[in-house]
Amino acid sequence: MTSLYATRIGRARRQMHARGVDALLVSVGFDLPYLIGYHAMPLERLTALVVTSERATLVVPRLEAARVTHHPEVFDIVAWNETDDPVATTATLIGSSRRIAVGDQMWSRFLVELLPHLKEREFVRSVDVVGAMRINKDDAEIASLSAAGAAADRVAAQLQGGEIPLIGRTEAQVSADISARLIAEGHDVVNFAIVAAGENAASPHHHAGDRVIKHGEIVLCDFGGTMAGYCSDITRCVHLGEPPADVARAWMDLRRAQEAGVAAGIVGATCESVDAAAREVLVEAGWGGYFIHRTGHGIGMEAHEEPYMVSGNALPIAAGHAFSVEPGIYVEGKWGMRLEDIVVATEAGPRRLNHTPRDLVVL
Ligand code: ZN
Ligand code: ZN
Ligand code: ZN
Repeated sequence: MTSLYATRIGRARRQMHARGVDALLVSVGFDLPYLIGYHAMPLERLTALVVTSERATLVVPRLEAARVTHHPEVFDIVAWNETDDPVATTATLIGSSRRIAVGDQMWSRFLVELLPHLKEREFVRSVDVVGAMRINKDDAEIASLSAAGAAADRVAAQLQGGEIPLIGRTEAQVSADISARLIAEGHDVVNFAIVAAGENAASPHHHAGDRVIKHGEIVLCDFGGTMAGYCSDITRCVHLGEPPADVARAWMDLRRAQEAGVAAGIVGATCESVDAAAREVLVEAGWGGYFIHRTGHGIGMEAHEEPYMVSGNALPIAAGHAFSVEPGIYVEGKWGMRLEDIVVATEAGPRRLNHTPRDLVVL
């Protein structure tokens, strides 16, 4: 694995050079494990990787240092003791760097403490440096996303097969059941398991609660986790008993919209064209006002990352971009539905990483 991180730090330095960035500063979040394979715990103690053209140094609490797999040819370690000042150490490593790229998830308290040490500097986001690398998945990353997707598919198949009891249980109970199944199928962590029944499904990020699921309603399940460092994310809906005509018709429209969105995910097309393709189908079918969010988000080490499939994002899709296509229809107070797969753009066309049937399965 050593060569992987040496390669990534080398690429980061080239990105820094191309963008006039003198120092890269990343802390908690996913740029750090991407660059050196170490995931910092989100704690009040500072962990920071400082990369300059000459040196890469991980400033890490002494008690966390044992968890770091050290690649001495890639980065140095400075372990700090409880009474040390890691902010001053970090500032020293940044030195006289003029333009500094800072990780999105670095806690503001550390940045606020650093600022007095870094007068008359220019700050940019590390997404300009590392994001440009992370957006293009290599073959090993796509294999990991595919394996995570297959594990989520197995849980979706259990849902569609009626193996997950629904009627008479609360959304929260079903959410816990789905979470346990995600782990049983190989995920290391569950990131979310949205279960929304009936009118609750009209709220896209509904928090599963004590609402009891009944016969005669739609149940939306949107779930995913992290497996070997990469995320899954899938949405399927089931209907308990035959759906009413308007719901059945809406589902057919939603399937066509999702199909159009996936088909638009071709190399060279813009991210916003994926959103437009899915949205156009729903607008023409009369659901335009009921599709209230963007069509998709990138996925990788993070469940939501670049690129975003949203109007206004003219970024061209490249081979190795991985993203969700997840249009939805939300009728407030009545019902909602969403259909989501993960797609990877390839030179041969869009490739879905989820294969569970896309029907509104009646249970
Ligand atoms: Zn979401
Ligand atoms: Zn989702
Ligand atoms: Zn999603």
